[in-house]
Parts: sequence; structure tokens; C-alpha cells
Amino acid sequence: MNKPILYGAGFLAVIVFLLVGSTWWSRALERDPQGTSVLLSQSGLHWHAKLIIRINGEEFPIPANLGLGVVHNPIHTHDDEPGLVHMEFGGLVRAEDLALGKFFKIWGKRFDSGGIFEYEAEQGKFTMTVDGVPSEEFENYSMRDGDVIEISYE
Ligand SMILES: [Zn+2]
Ligand SMILES: [Zn+2]
Repeated sequence: MNKPILYGAGFLAVIVFLLVGSTWWSRALERDPQGTSVLLSQSGLHWHAKLIIRINGEEFPIPANLGLGVVHNPIHTHDDEPGLVHMEFGGLVRAEDLALGKFFKIWGKRFDSGGIFEYEAEQGKFTMTVDGVPSEEFENYSMRDGDVIEISYE
């Protein structure tokens, strides 16, 4: 048994482990187009996205102070700009924490790829855009700072 060689191999294994680990970590912090289980921050964030909902061409009002009750939800609205969604998180924040569907759950309204409120996608034209670009992610879309999200049903 040659001990120096064993130690050498052990040392090499640690180096490889550290390299692979750090690569994985930096990748995890990058945006994953699927938006699942991606770590966005380790020390919280305060982001804003603008949400516009149009039903048959009419803008549907989004209430102020949603999510601000006895339980202060990290996703909420204030009485500042109508439709401005505040995301105020502490600690670890993952992409799925910012799913658009979470906002609708807090609001107590239905929103998924099948439709919005009582309106069924298959009975009309149901679309969603982010900064003007069509999105098929609907409730799974992970909101980003500065997004302008438009949901339309007609
Ligand atoms: Zn706030
Ligand atoms: Zn804010």
C-alpha cells in the first residue's frame, strides 16, 4: 500500500469535487428558461412587475393592498401604481417563489393555462405576453424585475 499515492488521489478527488460544485452553483444562479428550482437570490430581493389584465378589451382592476393582511405576503400590491406587483423577499428566493400563479392564489382568483377567472381559454382568445412577447408559461411564469405582463381574454 503506497500511502502518498492514496493521499494524492484523495486530494485530487477534493479538488474535482470543489470545481464541479462551484460550476454547479454558478449555473444555478443563472436563469433557467424552464424557471424551475433556480436560485435567484440568497439574500432576498425587492422586485416589481406590472400586471395588466384585459377582459373583452376592458382593463380589469387589480386591487391595492392585496396580500397585506395579518399575514404579510412577500408578493403583494400597494396603493401606489395600479397593477404593480411587489415582490419583497428575504433570504433564499427560488424562481418558483415568483410564479405568477402565486399572485393569483393570494388574490383568490383562478389563473392557469385553461383560463382566467370564469373565462375558459377554449371558449375565446386567451393570451399572455411578457414585455410584448407571447408566453405559454401562464401560472408557471416566474416574474422578473421590470416585467410588463399582459393577460388578455376576448
Ligand atoms: Zn411592499
Ligand atoms: Zn416594492
